[in-house]
Amino acid sequence: PRTPLMVGNWKLNLDHLQAIDLVQKLAWTLKDAEHDYDLTEVVVAPTFTSLRSVQTLVDGDKLPIKYASQDVSSHASGAYTGEVSAEQLAKLGVSFAIIGHSERREYHNETDELVNAKILAALGQGITPILCVGEPLEVRQASEHVAYTLAQLDGALAGLSPEQVGGIVVAYEPVWAIGTGEVATPDDAQEMAQAIRARVAETVDADVAAGLRILYGGSVKADNVKEIMAGADVDGALVGGASLKVDQFAPIAGFR
Ligand code: 13P
Repeated sequence: PRTPLMVGNWKLNLDHLQAIDLVQKLAWTLKDAEHDYDLTEVVVAPTFTSLRSVQTLVDGDKLPIKYASQDVSSHASGAYTGEVSAEQLAKLGVSFAIIGHSERREYHNETDELVNAKILAALGQGITPILCVGEPLEVRQASEHVAYTLAQLDGALAGLSPEQVGGIVVAYEPVWAIGTGEVATPDDAQEMAQAIRARVAETVDADVAAGLRILYGGSVKADNVKEIMAGADVDGALVGGASLKVDQFAPIAGFR
């Protein structure tokens, strides 16, 4: 039994005061709805500058909401201007790190090798990587989306032990569905989630594959989350735009 996981990726939005406001409202709304966090885990991913404020709020009010960074350095420390290490994030109570998001691959030239190094850095500090994979439109149009996405998966997981792979979450985010309002069909999401699970069973370990949580991301909204979650291998959602509004994200986070 895999616990569903709903992650709000805020991207480059909200300052630290707005972050506090949103987390508070989300917690209140879910409390009113008597949300059981053991049945569906809820995670928000603010910018680095908001993490300390979110930590203070979550710790102070003992909120069951967890928080993620949107990236992590592959380096532990040293002369790497602008980078933030996994150890620094762990000390802020960060429990997940989004790694290899398509926006980082596209705008910051992140390769599978770098993604692999970042996954190892996060795991080394007890942070759960949320590995993002997914194909651009032209690859989908050429019907090569499964092979393309599985190659990203193989690259990201290269050299990891079964135990290490057991400590990660995979998010399938087709690039053409991100921020476009064009959501993959439930069959598209299920097709890829199943393919990812089968690949991990084949290359890593059957038990690890069975326990692996696989999310779908790309234009998930309150009114389509149910059909997306219907796929047997889809265990949650990675939500962008809709995670910035309580009335949109609370019903997604509260999904059972
Ligand atoms: P949207 O939900 O805005 O399409 O973004 C998806 C995404 O990239 C989440 O990481």
